[in-house]
Amino acid sequence: MTGVRAEPARRAKPSPATWIVWIVALAVATALMLVVRVRVERVHVALVYLLVVQFASVRGGRAVGLTLAGLAFLAFNWFFLPPYGTLAIANPLDWLVLVVFLATSAVSAELLYRARELGAERARALAANARAKSLEESHHAKDAILAAVSHDLRTPLTTIKGLAHELASSGDDRAEVIEAEADRLSDFVSKLLDFSRITMGTPPRDIQANEAEDLLGAALQQAQGCLEGRTVNVHIESPDALLFGRFEFAQTLRVLVNLLENAAKYSATEQPIDVGARRMGAELQFWVADRGAGVAEAERDRIFEPFYRPRGSSRDGGGAGLGLFIARGIAQAQGGSVAYASRAGGGSVFTLSVPWADLEETPAAG
Ligand code: ADP
Repeated sequence: MTGVRAEPARRAKPSPATWIVWIVALAVATALMLVVRVRVERVHVALVYLLVVQFASVRGGRAVGLTLAGLAFLAFNWFFLPPYGTLAIANPLDWLVLVVFLATSAVSAELLYRARELGAERARALAANARAKSLEESHHAKDAILAAVSHDLRTPLTTIKGLAHELASSGDDRAEVIEAEADRLSDFVSKLLDFSRITMGTPPRDIQANEAEDLLGAALQQAQGCLEGRTVNVHIESPDALLFGRFEFAQTLRVLVNLLENAAKYSATEQPIDVGARRMGAELQFWVADRGAGVAEAERDRIFEPFYRPRGSSRDGGGAGLGLFIARGIAQAQGGSVAYASRAGGGSVFTLSVPWADLEETPAAG
């Protein structure tokens, strides 16, 4: 309703040409009737003026219509009600004619104007609807194309990588570069696929009770390559019981690996990386802490946006700015979260939270 009321403010005012056209039309109608004044009756005059006022309202809008109604009222009185040439009225019943004329023309001007506005409003609403629909369709098309392209890119990449690997083993150094670049591209394609999956809102498939240490161990193993030569401290904060969470293992593993890779990428090799798991109320939390430069206050929300890379970060670092967006998307889809905090003494702490699993209620407990 507010939209409807807000609209008229944006409507164009009648142009000077519109005013002139309708005032001239009124003058012409008056002149024509004056020529035959002896033969026209009050009712004819009233009907002709009413017609002009109504057309003026439809074409020129409310202000033009109401002004014309006023002018027609005066002209009616001046030219067609005796004594002519004055605003005085000899027959008191003529007042009734005039007042009825004014009221009728004003009301019809207003009604016609409203009808016109309603029509315009409806057209605007229909257009907005159509726009929203086509936007939604183009979103779906974009996601479908993205998914198709990503799938079709993967197959040739696997072939290229396989052949490069073969060539590398026969001693060609350039083949190693090809293999590494194919890996990078393949990683990017996977991220694009994840991106489209997350924006499409695909729900997670295989949420189960899993043990924290299993996930940590698998993540450390998968991130082995980029953690090479670094000190990694593992902290499992669970004095007497195993830590369980409810999450999709493969997807959550990718989130944790991504956080580890980032910690390695954004902090110096000689600095240690700390990872851990703990229970926090209804959540199982995994955290990854580094001693890098951390994230500037103004960037803390933005690093989770897709394709965002802070100013000055080099394009050659390999990232496309999708990692954290995907990490958060995966976590949120299973009722968890990924958050950043600055680390006391310098650096970053990224925390991945998933729902805590109370093993009493799961069959896996036995
Ligand atoms: P990318 O693939 O470009 O690394 P991410 O989404 O993983 O993209 O990260 C987005 C940005 O967040 C990075 O460009 C980086 O500036 C910042 N960032 C991520 N992890 C860390 C970290 N451990 N320390 C400092 N900055 C980080």
